Amino acid sequence: MSNFTVKVIDFMDRLGRLKKNLRTRGLDALLVTQPQNRHYLSGFRAGDMNINESSGALLIPRRGRPLLMTDFRYQLEAEAEAAGFEVLVYKRGLLDLLEKILAGKGIKRLAFESHYFLHQTAAKLVNLAKKLEIEPVPATGLVERLRLCKSPAEIEKIRAAVLLNEQVFQEVFQTLRAGMSERQVAIRIETLMREKGADAPAFETIVAGGPNGAKPHAVPSERLLGKGEPIVMDMGLVLDGYCSDMTRTVVLGEMDETSRDIFRLVRAAQLAGIKMIRPGVTGAEVDRAARRIIAGAGYGKRFGHGLGHGVGLAVHEGPGLSPRYKRKLKAGMVVTVEPGIYLPGWGGVRLENMVAVTEGGCEVLNTDTTFLEL
Ligand code: ZN
Ligand code: ZN
Repeated sequence: MSNFTVKVIDFMDRLGRLKKNLRTRGLDALLVTQPQNRHYLSGFRAGDMNINESSGALLIPRRGRPLLMTDFRYQLEAEAEAAGFEVLVYKRGLLDLLEKILAGKGIKRLAFESHYFLHQTAAKLVNLAKKLEIEPVPATGLVERLRLCKSPAEIEKIRAAVLLNEQVFQEVFQTLRAGMSERQVAIRIETLMREKGADAPAFETIVAGGPNGAKPHAVPSERLLGKGEPIVMDMGLVLDGYCSDMTRTVVLGEMDETSRDIFRLVRAAQLAGIKMIRPGVTGAEVDRAARRIIAGAGYGKRFGHGLGHGVGLAVHEGPGLSPRYKRKLKAGMVVTVEPGIYLPGWGGVRLENMVAVTEGGCEVLNTDTTFLEL
């Protein structure tokens, strides 16, 4: 089977599942504005420059051919990438075109993605709907819910992104020296990602040495890396549309006993979390299994974020591994497991791997073991 055939079947399946969902909810169509949802349903890859600078929207009617509305800048990509979609180009904005399309389509209840729609655009949509006697229905998560479980083909793409990310990490790690600046290392990582064929970094790379590592989302600075301090490196890339996300914490030169104890504790928490992952357990239960280990050693307050998050077309998506996530995991979900301990003034240790939930349990997608086995 050619790649192209597989692709069309995938998209038809996704649209089919969404339409079934619309039917159950009594919705006639969904307007899709969230970039990864747009990509997932149509194959159109363009992201948004910003939430107020959209590269287009989909209109998925319950019956009939789906539409992709975009502007001149994206017309050629849209026509090439969104097989099965009718591509319409707007000159005076989305709502102007939408008015023409919706008139006479028989759509009575139109859902829109209220979690990715500017309030000012929503106000205009509501006015337009009133004029056309359509009921606008705010909807969240309709497409995100479909994206939670990945197909085997999607998992292979994610695995490829994970392995390429590890290659980049290894190359940089082998040349890592005290005296390099955090920024220098981050730039090297992101350049290598591009050189090795990634679409882009999945997020701004974190390289945080010593005390900077106590900030979980530190921005790489001009600070020079020193010997003996923990250096948190959190990096991810996008390959063929799918993301990877990995954190390693490394030490140059000798590691003291305090560091070693903290590394071991974080790794034990990570393994406890991974051991818990299987279909039927909730994100909260997995989080608790890891958190218990860190809290038991007295560092509970120094692990202030969730254990992990889903990864796919977006680097942060559902499901969550956190005390608040009460839904059950299912086969096909892909999550990070990333416990950390952050000590102001000293630094941080975070270890992050990606795991796919399988029918019988789970599979760790990472192969890199740097500073995991101490
Ligand atoms: Zn990360
Ligand atoms: Zn992460």
